[in-house]
Amino acid sequence: MTTDRNAMIATGEVWLVGAGPGDPDLLTRKAERLLNSCDVVFHDALVGPGVLDLIPAGVRLVHVGKRSGRHSKDQKTIDALIVEAALAGNRVVRLKGGDPAIFGRATEELEACRAAGVTVRICPGITAASAAAADLSLSLTLRGLARKLTFVTAHARAGEALDLDWQTLADPQATLAIYMGKAAAAEVSRQLMDHGLAGHTPVAIVENASLPTARVFTGRLDLLGIMATTAIGDGPALLLIGEAVGMAGTAHNETGKMDMLARP
Ligand code: SAH
Repeated sequence: MTTDRNAMIATGEVWLVGAGPGDPDLLTRKAERLLNSCDVVFHDALVGPGVLDLIPAGVRLVHVGKRSGRHSKDQKTIDALIVEAALAGNRVVRLKGGDPAIFGRATEELEACRAAGVTVRICPGITAASAAAADLSLSLTLRGLARKLTFVTAHARAGEALDLDWQTLADPQATLAIYMGKAAAAEVSRQLMDHGLAGHTPVAIVENASLPTARVFTGRLDLLGIMATTAIGDGPALLLIGEAVGMAGTAHNETGKMDMLARP
């Protein structure tokens, strides 16, 4: 491994870097090296303050955060900013919450770079589902019981209904990890039950996974809507649904934990 801190990013190159779920200790060593060898970082609202603290003083930090309802910069503007910075000869990091390749609009940024002839690479990160499972001390897959893990987003455009393949999602042998699903939790619950999933299927909501402010709610599918509205705070939250979720352990700090109803 090279000891040259500047060897990681070439001038005029872009890296899409996964910042992980928030805990700076869950940043990869590669991501940290990239942050130490770049000129400018464009980061999301989801990137935790602990991660931003690791960025050296001389690096220019540009907040291009998007949180639902508070779009500060649209995707095209972000694409253009990244490309422009690279073409100006900067070593560019685009720092994204979790893993850049999971619900992270990475394709737009990859394509914008390629179209401009800018070299672009990805450094993966720990995704929210993995952090949520860790906070619950459970496995997302379960031999014989949960053979499939589905990452799905339940984010609907304003005023539009959720357009998901509910029949396929309502699989009793799968674990669903639902991103951006807090607002749609009641609809998710109703649709999955309408398509055959039992009301007592275990569910969990994990807010601020991996952070000291993490809050964990466990319960059952027929109560998911109530759980989501009870889950105060506007931190990012992940929904987990399926038999594997019923194995949630007790290692979590009990102060942040709420059990909505034990399973029958
Ligand atoms: N690329 C990210 C996901 C971006 S979509 C990743 O791989 O994790 C944003 C959604 O991710 C949020 O609405 C929430 O559902 C989830 N999320 C991100 N960070 C989270 C966290 N620390 N705790 C719980 N959910 C989180």
